[in-house]
Amino acid sequence: MKAVIIEKTGGTDVLQYKTDWPVPEPKDGEVLVKNEYIGINYIDTYFRSGVYPLPEVPFILGREGSGTIAAVGANAPSDLKVGSRVVYMGTQAYAEYTPVSGKSTIPIPDSIDSKIAAAALLQALTALTLIREAYPVQKGDWVLVTAAAGGVGLWLCQMLRAVGARTIATASTEEKRQLAKENGAEVLLEYHEEDRDVFVKKVLEITGGEGVHAVFDSVGKDTFDSSLAVVRRKGTMVSFGNASGPVTGFSLARLSAKNVKLLRTTLFNYIATRDELVQYADELWKFIEKDGLNVRIHDVYPLADIARATQDIEGRKTTGKLVLKP
Ligand code: NDP
Repeated sequence: MKAVIIEKTGGTDVLQYKTDWPVPEPKDGEVLVKNEYIGINYIDTYFRSGVYPLPEVPFILGREGSGTIAAVGANAPSDLKVGSRVVYMGTQAYAEYTPVSGKSTIPIPDSIDSKIAAAALLQALTALTLIREAYPVQKGDWVLVTAAAGGVGLWLCQMLRAVGARTIATASTEEKRQLAKENGAEVLLEYHEEDRDVFVKKVLEITGGEGVHAVFDSVGKDTFDSSLAVVRRKGTMVSFGNASGPVTGFSLARLSAKNVKLLRTTLFNYIATRDELVQYADELWKFIEKDGLNVRIHDVYPLADIARATQDIEGRKTTGKLVLKP
């Protein structure tokens, strides 16, 4: 089958496109999915570059996809049958066929297109679990969202508008900031690079001197300090990504200045059981069907063009979601 494998971490030159990789078999509790669409996520770059350790080599990157079930292993959930149209989160998605735990695989409702399902699931559920559990957002809350025109960022803007929150969005270009606005952000700001004090002062002015109720920060190292500086007393700082590098060396005592709640979340700990995944996915499908929320697809790349796609997302050239077609 076609697959993108890596044997070591490094730049995009370590991505190897193969056309003769063996088709895997589903193990106990797994199904084998014939991928129709594969979602690219920023986390894929962390495994390739070495920010996160590789579980094994050779390793097939990719955390989500949609397609049809080609084979069912023993003890897989009974609603997963050969031919079912499904979407999943797992590993080894950059391939024609992917073995996935049945726990992380769900049927796609008839009303949802397979491309939309693969493009939405991981990033939209990240946004949804952030606003429901990391900080349960209330109507009227002020929320700061970084990288607001990215995959997760655009979902956050849309969902925060849908629940009546007021979003302050940061992104690196004017075009990206306008896109965040079209998707629900109320106030647009440049990152703090120019002058952190000016950034903090602006956010305080916008929020009546108090700061935001919550920050959803995915940029990490470069924005952590300015994000923490604009959280209000008793507010919540959620760090959920490292696009600029991981946050290190944080002193807990800093939180006492405002009794801030600090979280470092991963989606997978909010949807660890199938019931949790199904519940959140049902809420996502309703957001798409009833509230008109949707995914902006930046581009659909052939699997063979994985290096170009990766350079685009790492080079900050993209907005919304990147999808691969095997
Ligand atoms: P995006 O589409 O948001 O792409 C990453 C964006 O990060 C870029 O477009 C860029 O936007 C911004 N960015 C800021 N600094 C840098 C930098 N130094 N290099 C590259 N990009 C930078 O990706 P995703 O939607 O897939 O993911 C967004 C973030 O959310 C990532 O950090 C990811 O790790 C995290 N995430 C976390 C999850 C979790 O469970 N914790 C789950 C899913 C995603 P701009 O140019 O506007 O700054």
